[in-house]
Amino acid sequence: MWFPTLIALAFAAGLHFWWRAKFRRAQAAARAELTRSAAREQAVGVETQTRQNALFDSMIEGVLVLDESGRVLFANQAFAEIFATSGILRGKTLLEAVRLNEVMEILARTRSEGRVIDHEARLSGEPERWLQINAAALTDAQRRKFGTIMVFHDLTRLKQLERQREEFVANVSHELRTPLSLIKGYVETLLDGAQNNPEVASRFLKIIERNTQRLDFLIQDLLTISALESGRMQLNLSPVNLFSLAEKVLGDLSPNAEAKQVSLVNELPELTVNGDFNRLDQVLANLVDNAIKYGRANGRVVVGGKKLDDGRLEICVRDDGPGIPAESLDRVFERFYRVDKARSRDQGGTGLGLAIVKHIVQAHGGEVRAASEPGQGATFYFTLPPG
Ligand code: ADP
Repeated sequence: MWFPTLIALAFAAGLHFWWRAKFRRAQAAARAELTRSAAREQAVGVETQTRQNALFDSMIEGVLVLDESGRVLFANQAFAEIFATSGILRGKTLLEAVRLNEVMEILARTRSEGRVIDHEARLSGEPERWLQINAAALTDAQRRKFGTIMVFHDLTRLKQLERQREEFVANVSHELRTPLSLIKGYVETLLDGAQNNPEVASRFLKIIERNTQRLDFLIQDLLTISALESGRMQLNLSPVNLFSLAEKVLGDLSPNAEAKQVSLVNELPELTVNGDFNRLDQVLANLVDNAIKYGRANGRVVVGGKKLDDGRLEICVRDDGPGIPAESLDRVFERFYRVDKARSRDQGGTGLGLAIVKHIVQAHGGEVRAASEPGQGATFYFTLPPG
């Protein structure tokens, strides 16, 4: 009797152990599967995070993500560059990260309004910098706010261009108004009776003629500079013999030189460049005209040139006048910059000649510079690629 019972017990025990082993194996497999899927999920999470960071780092705008308490969760590379921060930003307060009082107000507004669009801020310090700040509250699927995202766009270049444009318009208006008011004044004086005195009338008419010519030059120069700056001016490239070009320019300007008893000398060797003849004519004419205008009476203006070691050609225009102060050497190429305003206007200058020279030379792939020892004259150099 006890034998079948023993067999039944043994069978039951075997079954129990078999089930337990099977259950354990299943449990271990499930656990392994869980671990694998958690690892998979983590890997996917890490990959998504890496992609998101790469995306944010490829942006030129600075991005800052804050948690609900206003502490930094994430900042991209552009943010670190804009605010020149180094080290870990995560966990810092907004003010520590941005050091700009206005951001606290933006954060408060974002929390109450949901988003802040187009806030412009000026960063203190030199050079002056401008930022456009956009901010929005971050919400989850249940529309619960869990943080804030702020985007910082560097507006400095735009602001600089805007200011340059305003200055340009103000300068142009001023330049146009000066000859115009002179013309108006002399015409009114003539009409008021001065026309009855032939000698006075002739003198006034000459002044009017000079000022209309100045207006004409100014408008021509403005059109040239606008075409050059907008890239609308196409260069007609061909081999240009520099010696012949200089001969032509010096011939054209010989009446101006004679009026001041200035001797013009062409020392250029037979060099050929690949350039636009008319534009290079303009470059040389502006430089020689300036050398005559600002050089000394009975002086000497020399056009020279040589081949540089790197194959480029360097042309120079030298005078023996009073020269240019060191602090103005780079600035003379700026639009409307003059060392001596009265002198330039007196000579019929537009203040645009050297800016035009610089643009034309750069369009040819060359560079310009001025050198001067006070009292020893000025020399203008420009380089051109060989022909
Ligand atoms: P502008 O119409 O006044 O001559 P430019 O652009 O040609 O305008 O020149 C800018 C300024 O550079 C001039 O007003 C003058 O003060 C200075 N300058 C140019 N060339 C010379 C030179 N050879 N010697 C001294 N000053 C010069």
